[in-house]
Amino acid sequence: MKVLIVDDREDNRLILETKVRAAGYGAATAENGTEALARLRRERFDLVVTDLMMPGMDGFQLTHDIRADPELRNLPVLVYTATYTDPEDEALVRSLGASGFLVKPAGDEEFFAAVRAALAEARERPAEGRAPSPDELHYLRQYNERLVRKLEDKVEDYEAAQRSLRELNASLERRVEEATRELRRANEDLEAFSYSVSHDLRAPLRGIQGFVGAVLADDPPLSEAERRGFLRRAEAMAARGQALIEDLLRYARLKSTELPLEPVALADVFAMAFEQVDPALCAAGNVTAGRLAAVVRGHQATLVQVVQNLLTNALKFRRPGERARVEVNEEAREGRVRLLVRDHGIGIAPQFHARIFQVFERLHSAKAYAGTGVGLAIVARAMEKMGGRVGMESEEGAGSTFWIELPEA
Ligand code: ADP
Repeated sequence: MKVLIVDDREDNRLILETKVRAAGYGAATAENGTEALARLRRERFDLVVTDLMMPGMDGFQLTHDIRADPELRNLPVLVYTATYTDPEDEALVRSLGASGFLVKPAGDEEFFAAVRAALAEARERPAEGRAPSPDELHYLRQYNERLVRKLEDKVEDYEAAQRSLRELNASLERRVEEATRELRRANEDLEAFSYSVSHDLRAPLRGIQGFVGAVLADDPPLSEAERRGFLRRAEAMAARGQALIEDLLRYARLKSTELPLEPVALADVFAMAFEQVDPALCAAGNVTAGRLAAVVRGHQATLVQVVQNLLTNALKFRRPGERARVEVNEEAREGRVRLLVRDHGIGIAPQFHARIFQVFERLHSAKAYAGTGVGLAIVARAMEKMGGRVGMESEEGAGSTFWIELPEA
């Protein structure tokens, strides 16, 4: 037995040809209907296995032309298709006289069962004994319909692909915009940061240079007490430089480290933070806490640092000659929890409320109130990294309330 395989794709032809030969049949191939018809008119075949969608002459036309050719009309045709798989497609090829219809890809067993069935069908119902095939016009109309349907399907696929491409594009654009905005903000941050670093770190260095230079020059000559006094001040300035650098490192590190979030009890955070406040400051005031029962989502060690900074400030910025009074409370707010640290200290004038959260922003000299100006910057960055918020209310001369807010765990 000899089979003609008609398919426009080379890999399909090769696979089928190998399959057919392995089963012990003879096989030849053609790329489309036109080539197949020419070959069928030259050579004898026992079966045609044809694809439907092919450039040039397709499988519908090939089946139709075989049935219309007096020499070929009894040749069995098995349609083997991956594109036209609707029942209407099968009905049309059957009405054109195909002896079998099989959907690609089929396993060996299924394929040869279809081959045997097509051969048997052609034997049992030779074309001569069949009802006359539908008239040409009817066939053409149906054929057209099938083609138009396919075309519509393709257009729909294409439109859907275009739609999702457009959506993808829009979301990409959005993401690029967001990333650019973030980058710009990071850049501005960096600029402000390097300005204050160079400015504030230079101050102690300049001081050290001045005092040490005066001691070395000894002109006018210094008394022993003056010399020691200058060197002590140089030493104090070195210590201040060191403190600045340490705080800055803490602040910078906060940016690059991951803060895994976990449930954290505010009562624990407060207890640990309070323990870490400078004992001399604690001795200068009273800290009382209301009932702290909330559990928030945060990073415990970072939260302890945040609360320690707030407690330190609340105790530190007291009115001269007064003991500090600090109250700590929590407040539930629609799925979030606020921790408030309230003092009755010197307060902050409204125009400074935003500024104090930036690095090195201080409203007083180091002499009046010790500090580096990094504490609140750490608080703000830490809260942002934990997905929380920070804020404050204050009245100059009457005290301040700083708060942080995190999602409830
Ligand atoms: P530092 O305390 O080291 O100066 P911070 O960043 O913690 O730095 O605070 C920045 C500035 O904000 C302080 O120098 C102070 O002027 C002001 N400030 C912070 N907390 C308070 C407070 N509780 N009361 C009054 N002023 C405050």
